[in-house]
Amino acid sequence: MDEKSLDRRSFFKMAVTAAVVVPFALKAIGNAEAAPSAGCPATAPAGKPVAVVGVGMAKGLDYVEDGKTSTNPKHKPGQNCANCKYYNDKKGEGGYAPCTMMGMKWVTNCGWCKSYAAR
Ligand code: SF4
Repeated sequence: MDEKSLDRRSFFKMAVTAAVVVPFALKAIGNAEAAPSAGCPATAPAGKPVAVVGVGMAKGLDYVEDGKTSTNPKHKPGQNCANCKYYNDKKGEGGYAPCTMMGMKWVTNCGWCKSYAAR
């Protein structure tokens, strides 16, 4: 076996390894983004229309700022706005984002309401 075929073999080994490892790494990064940040709820970003617990739609949807404190029987452990399909995290900032079900009012990523739907 010459040096050139060894280099080619090494390249293919690296390519196969990357093809296997990269999708798992990207999935792990995606899951990390779906998890609420530490210290939830964070301070809401200034100037955004933030949903207020017990007021208007937030009251109707039984919204709480920390999903772990919800007493609604529909709430299951691990459910929060960060992994809800109505949470528009691409438009959010500072742990808050607009929620489609909340009339685009901003909710915290660790919140929860009874319209929750898993992504
Ligand atoms: S619909 Fe989803 S993102 Fe919106 S407040 Fe309820 S749980 Fe949070």
